[in-house]
Amino acid sequence: MAGGAGVVYDCHLHPLGHEGGFYQAERLRPFIEEALRKGLTGVGFTDHDWFVDHLDYRTVSLLQEEYQEIDLLFGLEVDYRPGREEKIREMISSQPFDYVIGSVHEIDGWPFDHPEAMEEYKNRDVKLLYKQYFSLLRQMVTSGLFQIVGHLDLIKVFGYRLPGGAVHLAEPVLREIKKYRMVVEINTNGLYKPVGEIYPAKDILIRCFQLGIPVTLSSDAHQAGAVGRDFPRARSLLKEIGYNSIAYFRQGIFYQMPL
Ligand code: ZN
Ligand code: FE
Ligand code: FE
Repeated sequence: MAGGAGVVYDCHLHPLGHEGGFYQAERLRPFIEEALRKGLTGVGFTDHDWFVDHLDYRTVSLLQEEYQEIDLLFGLEVDYRPGREEKIREMISSQPFDYVIGSVHEIDGWPFDHPEAMEEYKNRDVKLLYKQYFSLLRQMVTSGLFQIVGHLDLIKVFGYRLPGGAVHLAEPVLREIKKYRMVVEINTNGLYKPVGEIYPAKDILIRCFQLGIPVTLSSDAHQAGAVGRDFPRARSLLKEIGYNSIAYFRQGIFYQMPL
């Protein structure tokens, strides 16, 4: 297998991209084919909740019958915003999701990870931004609605960093993640953003390991070619830190397999 020994799941894929449309087998198939080429054990389809009404677990079930050699999971990536909890709860129970990724993409209505939002960083105090971001993330975690924390330090996306890193500001969130038995994803998509770094940063990942927080692997692929992208690199980073297993969820149940 191209992925080497061990189990490799890619738990964060967007077959509908940002275009949406119908959840047809033809949209998912190229992602599965790429996963097979890369030797992955399984993949999870986690389109944005903007498209929740178009998602259909039956598409994934049918494909699972066709592709017995790979494990297919059906999930969702939700935009967390305070006050949206009821709506989110409704969305989550509307379909039999295997798991749900909680992500913060917005600070007080400002979509801080959009390229068009980049100008606004110049008007902001970076340390305050990090504090606001992690406080929202903490609310996301303690809502108890999600299994996986999406791109934990996304606020670094355009390269605005704190001298000395963000691990101290992240600490209270990490403790809640542990308490709520959530999983942190190693998201390789950050390598293709201006920051040019995996989410989360290595110092945060080391702290996750110390706290005993399980991890999963994510490409956050919006096109099939990006499935499993840079996973060998992500896996060696995890092994270097001390991790020897990765997590995934099926029907909401936590599984851990040797990495
Ligand atoms: Zn997206
Ligand atoms: Fe996201
Ligand atoms: Fe995503």
